[in-house]
Amino acid sequence: MTASHHILPARHGAAYVLNAGEHALVRNPYGNQVVDTWALALANPEEHSAMEHTRSVNSNIFFDNGQQVVSIHRRPMLTLVEDTSPGRHDTLLCPCSSAIYRELGCTAPHRSCTDNFHEAIGNHGVSLSFTPASLNLFMNVPVAADGSLDRLPPVSRPGDHVLLRAEMDVLLVLSACPQDITPINGADHTPRDIELEIRREGAA
Ligand SMILES: [Zn+2]
Repeated sequence: MTASHHILPARHGAAYVLNAGEHALVRNPYGNQVVDTWALALANPEEHSAMEHTRSVNSNIFFDNGQQVVSIHRRPMLTLVEDTSPGRHDTLLCPCSSAIYRELGCTAPHRSCTDNFHEAIGNHGVSLSFTPASLNLFMNVPVAADGSLDRLPPVSRPGDHVLLRAEMDVLLVLSACPQDITPINGADHTPRDIELEIRREGAA
């Protein structure tokens, strides 16, 4: 096995080709950082990860160890094979966007997970006219019995990680969420870097 190490800088995104059976370890060095996550089928990028089908297949609104992200065709794309965090990952809320930052009162341009997604896939020669819903790793969105949601700082701890296994050849897209107005990236409202390890089969 070979492993390559990468830094996903705070507020930025990146995409990585992950072939079936390969793994991506996403480490949260400070514990506070949400990572918006997507997968696109390498053979047909319009087959994207689908949170509505993921919730349906897993019968769960969160994303727990052993569960899978599936595509719009309900084909397995990623499996969560290891999770050292308290296991709170959100599948409900949309990736942040320029429209959300305008709603929050920003008058200057603000980086967003939506823009990061399109930038990252563009760097791989892929373009989509829409933004799929994201799996929001480490994002703490508790749901009350009456259906209301809250947006709280992550409960993950410094150094916590998740390990994702690709179930098909995918473009894995990650965004270190730039949200610094709400406390979703921690009470100090400070987005931080994420560490990545891409594990491939074969000799170095
Ligand atoms: Zn975001």
